[in-house]
Amino acid sequence: MTSFEHPPYSDYDVVIGLEVHCQLLTTHKLFSAAANMTADAARPNQHVAHFEQALPGQLPVLNPEAVKLAVTAGLALDCHVNLTSVFERKHYFYPDLPKGYQITQQARPVCAQGQLSIPDSNVSVRIARIQIEEDAAKSTHDDRRGRRIDLNRASVPLIEIVTEPDMSSADEAVEFLKELHLIVRTLQVCSGNMEDGAFRCDANVSVKKRGSSSLGERCELKNINSFKFIRDAIEFEARRQIDILEAGGRITMQTRSYDAALGQTTLMRDKENAPDYRFMPEPDLPALTLSTAYVEELRAHLPELPAARRVRYVRQLGLSHQDTSIISSNLALASYFDQASALCASPQTLANWVLNEMTLVLSEQGASFESCPVSPAYMARFADLVSEDVINSKLAKKLLRLMVKHPECTPEHLLEAHHLVVIRDEDVLQALVSQVIEGNSVQVAQYRAGKEALLGYFVGQLMKLSQGKADPVVGKALLMKELTTLD
Ligand code: ADP
Ligand code: MG
Repeated sequence: MTSFEHPPYSDYDVVIGLEVHCQLLTTHKLFSAAANMTADAARPNQHVAHFEQALPGQLPVLNPEAVKLAVTAGLALDCHVNLTSVFERKHYFYPDLPKGYQITQQARPVCAQGQLSIPDSNVSVRIARIQIEEDAAKSTHDDRRGRRIDLNRASVPLIEIVTEPDMSSADEAVEFLKELHLIVRTLQVCSGNMEDGAFRCDANVSVKKRGSSSLGERCELKNINSFKFIRDAIEFEARRQIDILEAGGRITMQTRSYDAALGQTTLMRDKENAPDYRFMPEPDLPALTLSTAYVEELRAHLPELPAARRVRYVRQLGLSHQDTSIISSNLALASYFDQASALCASPQTLANWVLNEMTLVLSEQGASFESCPVSPAYMARFADLVSEDVINSKLAKKLLRLMVKHPECTPEHLLEAHHLVVIRDEDVLQALVSQVIEGNSVQVAQYRAGKEALLGYFVGQLMKLSQGKADPVVGKALLMKELTTLD
């Protein structure tokens, strides 16, 4: 791929604004009592009320659960919550929309003017708005059976989160999206499942001469469903636009789709063919009014957000930045770590063992921290045993695997039962040292004749004899004493 570090690409700024759709984790649909069950793909058209079928005379009833999740997301993104917001009809004709219009919010969305900082950067992205709207049905086509419509997804509650055009590279857009993805999952507002379209993104991309203050004409890239594709699509599109400008052409406003197989964006429609949605107020829904008390109640119940968690890991627990970012980007791991670290005197040791050995053992078993066999409490005790030097790292690896095998046993019990404690008792060590000296008379003679590099060999023999349990510092001291006293 051409890099943006070289001319002519380096002579341009890339400008990106995102529109992210999140399906809300409500039990029911946005305007009816039908279940919100898009994952039940095996049985199409099972979760459909009369409203989603657009039968005449059906009235929408707004689901308060969806409002709650939308406002929660808004508060987490530092938004202003509009105490009065309104619903509108956005008209278009397509088989996935039986009513002929989508109910959405346009003029006055439920939340506006927020912001989200991209981690490990000094970029803050402004959130223009968050609106509540309904999803469309799913339309599929195959040559044998023709077009088929599954209404399970019709009127599934969505929020659309729209950013200002504040990102300036594909990487920045992806980092922003990953943070947003982590936040909506932390809030349990959205499953975040990108393959199923529960979290999906349109990227608006334009380019301008480096440093110019006026924005270029933009193209909108529709419905991209993986972080990698988003990065690739934005980079391809920015280069495409720069190539056109360099060749003396002009950018015209277009809606484009990304073809992952070709690695290209292709034209869907241009400005002339842009639909006129004929927005009008939704006559069947009153304005949505919220009280300050309601909003403040939701604010008070916000969980700890990823940014606050990272600060806590670094400032209170003293974790490294790298460990902090790995742990906090995985919600199951972060929850496990939080439970364990609350009971543990040595959080960095805990982090080391959780991120290395425990992660390795779980991946060998095809398991994850959601179903970690070792309880957080036992993992905490384990880390304390390691940091108090009761056990060295070699024995600790053995102990951890025993803990996975016998999750019902305390680490202390396993330690005793399998004799994994480090030998520090000088009498016991002395006996082992004597055995090493007696069993290696040739090397002892060489050492005494001046070959001092053999000390490591004796330490090795001591560790072997003690099955890794001898305290190496005390053991080494005893060995030296023995070797330097002539018999
Ligand atoms: P519309 O009303 O046509 O949907 P908006 O002004 O709401 O347009 O913008 C939609 C999205 O496009 C927003 O995410 C915004 O940040 C982004 N956007 C607007 N102008 C540009 C631009 N010149 N370059 C990149 N993104 C842009
Ligand atoms: Mg828009």
